[in-house]
Amino acid sequence: MSTHKTYIVEHLDPELGPWSELEYLTIARETHRAGGVFCLSSLPPDFKVPDRLAAEPAFEAETRGVEEMYPTAGGEGAGAGAKGEKGRVCLLDPQAEKDLSPEDRGEFDVFLFGGILGDDPPRDRTGELRKKGFAGRRLGPVQMTTDTAVRVTRMVVEEQFTLDTVPYLDFPELKFNEHESSQMPFRYVKSPDEQPVMPEGMVNLIKKDADKSIDDLF
Ligand code: SAM
Repeated sequence: MSTHKTYIVEHLDPELGPWSELEYLTIARETHRAGGVFCLSSLPPDFKVPDRLAAEPAFEAETRGVEEMYPTAGGEGAGAGAKGEKGRVCLLDPQAEKDLSPEDRGEFDVFLFGGILGDDPPRDRTGELRKKGFAGRRLGPVQMTTDTAVRVTRMVVEEQFTLDTVPYLDFPELKFNEHESSQMPFRYVKSPDEQPVMPEGMVNLIKKDADKSIDDLF
């Protein structure tokens, strides 16, 4: 078992939009602080990784899919620095029967997430990864953003929180000004100043998108 964990987001959307870019930057920075690796897998060969993401020291871009990186016990095609053992990989799956627990630190070295934006209601696109047969763990019953899911996984496996001791904020309302606000249909970690922990720049992006949808109405 390695003490430094690898976090993999398998790229499942056709492109990497600005929301995902901010989420992945945050995952890369937080993973670096914890001494781990953040890998974006299954990238098309001609994929252009955004410069500021590529510059993050914890970040690795990978064209192979996770099945190819972790085929079987020590098999050919094992990922760099990885054992290639499928059994060491845990899929974070909103429909898994078992919740993630601090003991899973000893069970898994690699944590796998669906590279999909949250949707309301959730469309279960994580199902595409479930079919590949990795062990699954749930992070409780509420849908999280991908960076929140990685953050909570790290808190549980590295900092040994139990899921019920993580401070959460569900469906927060973001107030942009006196007249404008937006309610987020996700669970976040709550910061000490009672705010949802979000990627830097995300609130502005959400406001811009909200303004754009209003403009589109006219
Ligand atoms: N609506 C999506 C779906 O169709 O599956 C969930 C997308 S979520 C924004 C992105 C990823 O975060 C998921 O693929 C999963 O790996 C992880 N995730 C989010 N909430 C989770 C939860 N409550 N339990 C386990 N994993 C979760």
